[in-house]
Amino acid sequence: MKDELLVKPGDHPHFANRDPGSRLGLEKAEGTKRLEKLQERLDLLQGRLFGEGKRSVLLVLQGLDGSGKDGVIRSVFTGVNPQAVEVHPFRAPSASELAHDYLWRVHAVTPERGTIAVFNRSHYEDVVTVDVLGLVPKDVVRKRPRHIREWERMLSEEGTAIVKVFLHVSKDAQAQRFRDRLEDPEKRWKFRAGDLEVRTRFDAYMALYEEAIAETSTEWAPWYVVPADHNWVKSLAVATLLADELERMDPQLPEPDPGVDPDSI
Ligand code: AMP
Ligand code: MG
Repeated sequence: MKDELLVKPGDHPHFANRDPGSRLGLEKAEGTKRLEKLQERLDLLQGRLFGEGKRSVLLVLQGLDGSGKDGVIRSVFTGVNPQAVEVHPFRAPSASELAHDYLWRVHAVTPERGTIAVFNRSHYEDVVTVDVLGLVPKDVVRKRPRHIREWERMLSEEGTAIVKVFLHVSKDAQAQRFRDRLEDPEKRWKFRAGDLEVRTRFDAYMALYEEAIAETSTEWAPWYVVPADHNWVKSLAVATLLADELERMDPQLPEPDPGVDPDSI
């Protein structure tokens, strides 16, 4: 599954050749069962990561409105100890954030050793969204992928494993999610006028993500494009990518303290 989703360093994601409605060759019942197993596995591996206390994991989630970023976070981390996972949503920057460079607010919340951080949106808003909306001049934005590659390389060399996921939703599934939001009294408040604006710019966003991902998928911080029209598919895919990364890291628990005599209790 990983190879299918990976954007190889130097490659483009080629959204046009990817199906956001893909089920990754699985049935829903099978996928749901696998997700439950992965949730348990993630909890175990996270415990080892914490016990080792030397490295950390950063999961970056990007995707258009309605791609289901919030839902993925809820389902992938169901069952993982909340003490060792921090979720950081990034909204339009505050005045104080705008008074700094764009990585300032992001760097402040990278994961501590032993923990997992999830970015719900990220510094990639400062490459794509600011360009779509014309908030930052193009000649300034154009330099950012280079900064980001190097910044992410530094994090990786200092012990943070980085997994970047783009949730790839189709226009139709996005429209359906917006309708659901409007019809559900518990969700209606989430809908803002700006969401419709994003929708009219769907193609502009996708064109810029195509470029931004091509420029920033690296050996040390690769991008994965996850089909996001089906909720169970995107959750299963993200859980798999995360568990694979933790397996690859293979965190080691410290040796038990030899001064402790188990018979003394
Ligand atoms: P939500 O994730 O639905 O709460 O929406 C957050 C909003 O903040 C989205 O419209 C993002 O595009 C916007 N946003 C996040 N980061 C930035 C940024 N650096 N510059 C401009 N807009 C941003
Ligand atoms: Mg949202």
